[in-house]
Amino acid sequence: MNSYSTFNKQKPSTLAMAILYNQELMNCDDLQITDLILDMDGVLWRGDTPMPGLVNFFDTIAQAQVGYVLATNNAAKTAAMVVEQLAEYGVKIPRELILNSAEATARYLRHNYPEMKSAYVVGEDGLVLAMTDQEFEVLNGDSFIGSKSRADVVVVGFTRHVCYPQLASAAHLINNGALFIGTNPDVSIPTEFGPLPGAGALLAYLEAATGRRPLVIGKPNLPMFQEALRLLGNKPKTTVVVGDRLSTDIAGGRAAGMKTVLLLSGITREKEVNSSSIQPACVMNDINELAEFIRSHKGPDPLESS
Ligand SMILES: [Mg+2]
Repeated sequence: MNSYSTFNKQKPSTLAMAILYNQELMNCDDLQITDLILDMDGVLWRGDTPMPGLVNFFDTIAQAQVGYVLATNNAAKTAAMVVEQLAEYGVKIPRELILNSAEATARYLRHNYPEMKSAYVVGEDGLVLAMTDQEFEVLNGDSFIGSKSRADVVVVGFTRHVCYPQLASAAHLINNGALFIGTNPDVSIPTEFGPLPGAGALLAYLEAATGRRPLVIGKPNLPMFQEALRLLGNKPKTTVVVGDRLSTDIAGGRAAGMKTVLLLSGITREKEVNSSSIQPACVMNDINELAEFIRSHKGPDPLESS
C-alpha cells in the first residue's frame, strides 16, 4: 500500500478494523442513492482517456436528480483544471462540485478552526489558492528558520518545487506549536517513469524531523469524506462512495459510515475483491452499469417529495 500510513507505527484510528471485516456483501438492489461521492481516475477517466459512456453517465444522474461531488487526493490538479478536462470530454460541471485534497484541507481547517489566520504552505499553486480562498494568510518561502515568527498551521501537500530551507522552515514552525496538517497520505505518485515521491513522503520527512504526527485530510481518512458529505447536505445513509481502490475509496467510505460501490474499470481486479478484507457494498464493472442501476432504481421520486 503506497500510503503515508505505511510509515505510521500507530494503528490507523479512523479505520476501525471492526468496520472493515465481516460485513456481508449486500445485494446491489438494496442500495439507495440520493448523492454520489465520485472518485475520478479509474472511474471517470483513465490517464488522459475518458471512460466510454461518460457523457451519458452525467446525463443520467442529472435526470435522476442525484447530487454528486468529485473527490480526489490529487491536489496538483486544481478544480479549474478538472472542469476544463471534463469540458474537453463533453461534460459541463460547476467548479464547486470538485473536491481535491487541497480544497478539502482548506475547507476542513476553516470549518474546524475558524479562529486560525496564518498558514505556512509547502505545496503548489492549487493548495495556496485553496487556502487563500478560505481567507488564510498564506506564508511561504524559506525565511522562517530561527525566526520568532509563528504560523497557526503548517499545511503540506504534493510539490515538485521543494527545497531544504522550506522543509526546515516548516519543521521550525511545527516545533514552535503550529498545527501539522497533510493534504493526502500518498507516499508516491504514478508517473511514466514509475512511482516518484508524493505528499506522504514529505510528511514522513517532517514527522521524522519533528517527532509530530500530521493530521492527514485525504482519502482514506475521514476529513475528506466529511467535507464531501457536508457539500452534499449531510445524508450519509443515501450518499454512496464510488471508487476503484479498496484501500482508499472503499475503506474510507465505509469508515465514514457510507455505502460504497467498487468499479472494476480502474486499478482493482475482481479476484482482488474476493480475497480482500475490505468489502464494498456492491461491485460493478463501470459507470455504464452504475448509470443503468440509477436509471432502474431512481432515488426518491421528485414528484412524491414535492
Ligand atoms: Mg481512482
